[in-house]
Formats: sequence, C-alpha cells, structure tokens
Amino acid sequence: MSSIMYDYLLIGHGIAGAILARELRARGRRVLVFDEPRPDAASRVAAGLMNPVAGKRFALTWRAHDTLPYAVAYYKKLSAELGEDLFQESLILKVFGSAQEQQQVLARAADNPWGEFLDRIETAPLSLPGVTGPHGGAWLRGGGHLRVEATLAALARQGRAAGWLREEIFSWKNLTAEADGTVSYAPSHEPGAVRARQVVCCQGAAALASPYFDWLPLTPNRGAVLDVAAPGLSGGQVLNRGAYVVPGAAAGQFRVGATYRWPPFAEADLADLAADNDDRRELSDRLAALTELPFAVLGERRGVRPAVRDRRPLLGRHPGPAGAWLSLFGGFGSKGVSLAPRLAALLADHLETGAELWPDVTLARYSALFQPAVNSVGTSRLT
Ligand SMILES: Cc1cc2nc3c(=O)[nH]c(=O)nc-3n(C[C@H](O)[C@H](O)[C@H](O)COP(=O)(O)OP(=O)(O)OC[C@H]3O[C@@H](n4cnc5c(N)ncnc54)[C@H](O)[C@@H]3O)c2cc1C
Repeated sequence: MSSIMYDYLLIGHGIAGAILARELRARGRRVLVFDEPRPDAASRVAAGLMNPVAGKRFALTWRAHDTLPYAVAYYKKLSAELGEDLFQESLILKVFGSAQEQQQVLARAADNPWGEFLDRIETAPLSLPGVTGPHGGAWLRGGGHLRVEATLAALARQGRAAGWLREEIFSWKNLTAEADGTVSYAPSHEPGAVRARQVVCCQGAAALASPYFDWLPLTPNRGAVLDVAAPGLSGGQVLNRGAYVVPGAAAGQFRVGATYRWPPFAEADLADLAADNDDRRELSDRLAALTELPFAVLGERRGVRPAVRDRRPLLGRHPGPAGAWLSLFGGFGSKGVSLAPRLAALLADHLETGAELWPDVTLARYSALFQPAVNSVGTSRLT
C-alpha cells in the first residue's frame, strides 16, 4: 500500500487555507490541500475590501497597524508573482450621510484616532462623478481591494499543476490518529492512505461541522453582494456609505456590499437568488443613496461568513489530545482578506517554532468551552 507523508494537510482553500498553504510551502514544508471549490464559499463572493475603518462608529479596525500594511505588501507581491492584476491599493472615501455625521467625525479628528490611515477630511460637497455627497467625506489610505475569486482560481491552477491541491470533499471520518503521532487519511475508494504530521482546519464556517471544532462559538453569518453596472460613477476609489462600492475588473462595473443575516437561515438561501429579494433591495437602496446615476444589477452572490462571538479570529491547536496534530485557522468574520496574510505567518511561526500566538486570536481563550466527554464521539480518533 503506497503512503505519502506530508508535513501538513490543510482542509479548505478559501483565502485562509490558500495563504496558509503558501506560507508553509515557502518555509519548505510539504503541504496537501483538500478543497471543495464551492462558488458560495465566503472567499469567492467577498468584495475583497481591506478597509482601515469599520462600522457606523467609524473606528479604526482591530490591529489595523499589525495587519493592513502587511496585507497590502503581501497582495502586491502575490499579484506580481501570479502575473495578474489582482490587487489594487486604493483610497476609500467614507461619504458623510449628514451634517451631524460630518461634525462628529471632525470632533473626533482632534485626537486623530485613525493615525496615518486618515488622508484628509473634506467638508465641502463632493465633486466626484456620480457621487451624492453634499456633506463631504473622509478619505482613508492604507487599504485596497483584492479580486479574491480570481486570486484563488490562479492559486488553484498552480495547485492542480503541482499536485498539492485535491478538489474534493474531505471527510473527518476517514481520518485516523496513528500511534506514532501522525495521521492517515484513507477514503474507502482509494487504494493508499495519505499520511501527514499536522492537520489544519481552514474550512471557514464549515469548521462547525467538524467533530473537533463544533464547540467553538462560531456563528455563521450570511451575506450578499451585488455586481452592478453604473456607467459614469467614479471608479478611482472605493466608496462607502451604508454600503461599500468596490470598482470591478471592467470600467463602469462595481461590487456593492454587503448584507448581514444571522441564523436561522437555510443552505438553500445561498442559491435562492430571486430577482426581488431583501438583500437585493437593501443593497440597491443603499447604492441609490450614494448616486443618482442609473445602475443595473448584473448579479448577486451570497456566502456565509465565519463569525466569532468576540469578533476575533480563531487560531491554534485543538485543546484536547488531538492538539498534538490538529489546529484551526479561521473565524475571520468579515475581515479574512486583510487579516489572513499576517495571521498565517503568526500561525506558521507557532506551529513551526512554538512561537506564542497573540492572546486575542488564540483559540485557547475558549478552551473552557471544550469538554472532552461531551465534545467527542467517543472514539480514540475524536479526542
Ligand atoms: C457577502 C460577503 C462579502 C464579504 N466581503 C468581504 C470583504 O470585502 N473583505 C473581507 O476581508 N472579507 C469579506 N468577507 C468575509 C470573507 O469572505 C471571509 O472572512 C473569508 O472569506 C473567510 O475565509 P476562509 O478561507 O476562512 O473561509 P471560506 O472562504 O468559507 O473557505 C473555506 C473553504 O473550505 C472548503 N471546505 C469546507 N469544508 C470542506 C470539506 N469538508 N472538504 C473540502 N473543502 C471544504 C470550502 O468549500 C471553501 O472553499 C465577505 C463575506 C461575505 C459572505
């Protein structure tokens, strides 16, 4: 029986698995990735926006200084390596929705909570083609947008050619922890087993369906984006007011996002894209508040974000005995694009050298929720 020994077996080739696989391969490790390339995986529908400021409170995003400059440099290099125009460093214009919002931002600007990420604040009406902005806006720098689906497709082509990617569903029941500390993966239809020293779950929200990680406070959050044609609308920056409007690959086309829907929702909701639905209405209304230009909806995409109760990613080894060979890289919520590069390096350092994880990302912060007697199926494989 032939048996191939890998250093790492990764499950999932969304943005998390793809970047971690690159990181580990760059360190000379032998990596095999399993991925079911679902078109509704969060990474494949994401607008790819990296925004230093988030939410209604206009607050600097968590660890922006640690992650954003790293991600910008990472994607520029990756884009050059792949020889495709995949990443655009770009200004982001937060359009003020009211005079009151303008005043609130100006008042906070005295303390400059946004540091070098704030380019300038404009109080006069905006004069950008097609943009409705009578109260001005705040220009942010240090962000950009990645064509995530195209990036993953380009990396997957490499993976197919080099043989490190298997585009098939990984089933945990075919995984066995061996006495020598390695694992073997042996689907019944295959003659030989795959052997590996370490396994990393990069399944996004589907990590909840793994028998090892179902105890984590991951909450799937469904979201939608629209692809629109808005000829004449300024495409030299990302626009943000209620919705973000990210320039697409072709002139006059944009991706508009995003909605947030908490459970319960059905798997069928992901594909049920009737021309008239709540997501489409909500996003169209928000776009209409940003521009008086006519626009046409070209398509809608939906996916499920891997959100976490405390809104921080989840990295590190499983807290039970399986932690000798099993880790998680996930919980990226709505920020996988900007966080994955720096955190992949952090996790690789941890796995390779034992370097400490940041306390706010380690999944050890939730290990009290793990109860081996409850959180296992009662076989030695699942402890
Ligand atoms: C509508 C929407 C818009 C978004 N916009 C942005 C944005 O602008 N910027 C941003 O940073 N983030 C955005 N996000 C969030 C972002 O998409 C996620 O943070 C990120 O994609 C998570 O990546 P991931 O690799 O962890 O998970 P996923 O993208 O879900 O990838 C997991 C992969 O694992 C595979 N998989 C799962 N189980 C198995 C199995 N058993 N066997 C084989 N393969 C398996 C899946 O098929 C998938 O390919 C958005 C999300 C949504 C839904």
